[in-house]
Amino acid sequence: MISFAHSRSVLLIFALVFICSVSDARPIKEVPKLILISIDGFGFDYINRIGNENIPNLLYFIEHGSSVKYVKNVFPSVTYPNHMSIISGLYPESHGVVHNVFRDDYLNDTFHLDAFFQNFDSRWFDNGQEVIYSSNRRGNGLRETGSVLWPGGLTTIKGVQPRTIGRAFSGNLSLPYNTRIDYLIKWLTDKYRPANLGLLYFDEPDESGHKFGPNSPEVTKAVRRVDNALGYLKQKLNESGLLGSVDIILTSDHGMLSVDKFVNIDKCVDSQWYTTDESLSTVLFIYPKKGKRLIHQ
Ligand SMILES: [Zn+2]
Repeated sequence: MISFAHSRSVLLIFALVFICSVSDARPIKEVPKLILISIDGFGFDYINRIGNENIPNLLYFIEHGSSVKYVKNVFPSVTYPNHMSIISGLYPESHGVVHNVFRDDYLNDTFHLDAFFQNFDSRWFDNGQEVIYSSNRRGNGLRETGSVLWPGGLTTIKGVQPRTIGRAFSGNLSLPYNTRIDYLIKWLTDKYRPANLGLLYFDEPDESGHKFGPNSPEVTKAVRRVDNALGYLKQKLNESGLLGSVDIILTSDHGMLSVDKFVNIDKCVDSQWYTTDESLSTVLFIYPKKGKRLIHQ
């Protein structure tokens, strides 16, 4: 049996973005605009492996910008820790989002990526770190951020709440990609208070990669779907007169790798001694049962 684990991810177009915390007195409409896009689980080798005919829009952005071969993700190489690292610049031990599923004894509660409503509960994410949208607001009190389904980037952090689609829709990853882009464009072109920063999340090709493997035709199809959405984004930016003035960063949270090795934890530790929140992951958190305790050696 083959399962699929995360590996290093690709960064298509990457720039370190420093948002000045010094007060910016420019009218909000004159502030430069930035769109940060995450394509979940886009492996560093996908650009070369998936035929050019399937990614014309990705290639457009590469050809009109700067790109690198890959970037290193943070450990653990899963979605939530990495998305928080992208918007905070910190490692998980500092921003506190340590896994997709994790227990917090202080809160006496468990975070689970499938419980999407928890994205709106700042207790899991507001851990003292600065994130890109709180910096954005501090740069100019009028600056706005719109966040489309960004994992961990939908709630109030450091007192700043980004604009979101709304809880009912935000929990729905089946929301069509073009609809996600429509929301983003609406925020960027708002007549009275336009956003100058947009966070946009695509959940593919991660899902297809997990289900069918990184080298599967389903992943190619999923990448093509994202590429079509990027084409739509380009079209909408063009129509709204933003294409020549907005900066775009395309990146991913991690890649994906076929593996055929498994660690049977039951051979390492008695299953009666611990509990766990998740059984299938590249990194497993285990918690000692009552009467047991962890001893670090
Ligand atoms: Zn991911």
